[in-house]
Amino acid sequence: MLRRPGFIYFDIDDTLLDHSSAQRAALQDVREAHPALQQASFEELSRVYAQHNHRLWHAYSLGQIDRHALQRHRFEDTFAELGLGVSSPEAVGREYMQAYRRHWRWIPGAKAALKALSQSFRIGFITNGFSETQKKKVADFGLEALAGPVIISEDVGYLKPSPEIFAYAEAQSGAGAGDILYVGDNLVSDIRGGRSAGWQTAWYAPQHTAEENGEASFVFRNFEVLQARLLSG
Ligand SMILES: [Mg+2]
Repeated sequence: MLRRPGFIYFDIDDTLLDHSSAQRAALQDVREAHPALQQASFEELSRVYAQHNHRLWHAYSLGQIDRHALQRHRFEDTFAELGLGVSSPEAVGREYMQAYRRHWRWIPGAKAALKALSQSFRIGFITNGFSETQKKKVADFGLEALAGPVIISEDVGYLKPSPEIFAYAEAQSGAGAGDILYVGDNLVSDIRGGRSAGWQTAWYAPQHTAEENGEASFVFRNFEVLQARLLSG
């Protein structure tokens, strides 16, 4: 059951902007540019990279490694595991980030919904990611013009679902916990994180089925539905 919120925070990656497709397209670009990477199939490269990226993000979230180590090792470790002789994994990592930025796109319907909602609600963003990258997304997509606080995990020093980042965001919003709605795609970092903070949550779950809907205050598969629900009162 969703009550009318006083403040809405949005996640960015895979909620407003299509991070997963950009990541895939960027990997395809670097594979095409480096013949050494073509010794592995794209699916293989993609699968092994995802495993190392996930593992290293977890170590980063625990403060065990810094972002430079994360950015270097996700490629170095992938190439080592696949036995690919790449002379400069660091250069591939830099090219990957440039390609990733070229492929950013809105999630369908998100831009219109965000614009409409920003006329009736105070809005902000909370995102796990690198400060430089996420600030560029905010600038490129005009998010700042629509919103108040933009909260990036690297700046705060805590990643979602840590309670600290939600407490920080709550203080920045000027709203009480029960008055905040968090809209995100990730069941753990967004929905459980927001719920633990005492916030309402709206889960953007385009792939999921009704049986998995128990934990969020509201579940939606497309942004027109969220927009209609929030603007109907
Ligand atoms: Mg997300």
